Amino acid sequence: MIETKAYAAQSPETDLAPWTFERRDVGAHDVQIEILFCGVCHSDLHQIRNEWFPGIFPMVPGHEIVGRITQVGDHVKKFKQGDLAGVGCMVDSCQVCYNCKDGLEQYCVEGNTQTYNNLGRDGVPTYGGYSNTIVVREEFVVSVPEKLDLAAVAPLLCAGITTYSPLKYWKVGQGHKLAVVGLGGLGHMGVKFGVAFGAEVTVLSTSPAKEADAKALGAHHFVVTSDEEQLKTVQGSFDFILDTVAADHNIPLYLSLLKTSGTHILVGAPPKPLEIPAFALIPGRMSVSGSTIGGIAETQEMLNFCAEHNIVSDIELINIQDINQAYERMVKGDVRYRFVIDIASL
Ligand code: NAP
Ligand code: ZN
Repeated sequence: MIETKAYAAQSPETDLAPWTFERRDVGAHDVQIEILFCGVCHSDLHQIRNEWFPGIFPMVPGHEIVGRITQVGDHVKKFKQGDLAGVGCMVDSCQVCYNCKDGLEQYCVEGNTQTYNNLGRDGVPTYGGYSNTIVVREEFVVSVPEKLDLAAVAPLLCAGITTYSPLKYWKVGQGHKLAVVGLGGLGHMGVKFGVAFGAEVTVLSTSPAKEADAKALGAHHFVVTSDEEQLKTVQGSFDFILDTVAADHNIPLYLSLLKTSGTHILVGAPPKPLEIPAFALIPGRMSVSGSTIGGIAETQEMLNFCAEHNIVSDIELINIQDINQAYERMVKGDVRYRFVIDIASL
């Protein structure tokens, strides 16, 4: 077994604190990665606080993992010792269902195995990237391009792919008006990809102070959603809305900003069920849809796209000892625009 240093929550009521546990030895199809950086996703906070469902404790969060491969199993083909590698939100799936066969492991009909807060197919709880090392089967590891800033790459493994994948699926690009709701970790990546794909991008935000940043990220317009006059100017105007909000919010209000036949894409996952009156959908033939992360091949495609277009996340690098304060800031929407943990501080 591999002794692993980590930060864990012992219960939904406690802060994260140092914890040590053991990972499995490197199997024939596994790689071991020395974790260098791990992004901090709002999903980490939802899960340590049991906001979605009862979690498995102790919980080591973290699913935006980058590092260097230190060991490979005998049958590993894609990687060698010393390679840069990334791991996102899942570490296993059945590999044989129609979705897995289609490269949609995130929609595995048996359910994918999440990087943490899940039982692995061996029945052992999974533990995430707020730790110094991880062992993962090679099919769930992606290659990280050497030319990008490694700390700023980490958030691409969740925030990046979660916004890239739906924009690709719905073919959002030139000629489309795209609104991104919430300028946080996911939102700022949604802006970057929307702009890169050629869409006209508007940020819909609750934070007037983020306007300059939104424009610097490439957004063409910025609307403060608490300002009724500003909202009127975008009524019925968007083809797509990419909704990244983590908290309860007024979906019908956003639906009123769509064109006829427009699509509201939920990637944000507020714990409370959404309230959507039929008459917010019927008169305009609106669609409300959801999307989760992306498949492994698509995650690699996204990383390659980022290397080609020089896209990374805008980050605040923190020491792991500062994680609990970082969560407090995240809840307030005060992140510019993703916290990333320097695992060396562990
Ligand atoms: P984040 O960094 O906290 O960003 C969320 C943003 O939403 C905030 O910065 C804020 O932006 C806005 N916001 C916050 N409260 C709001 C409210 N009450 N009404 C309207 N807007 C509000 O979070 P994140 O890491 O990007 O994650 C966002 C959500 O996506 C979380 O629920 C997370 O669990 C989920 N997620 C889903 C997937 C998936 O596979 N679908 C993957 C990763 C994360 P402004 O200041 O601009 O308003
Ligand atoms: Zn995430």
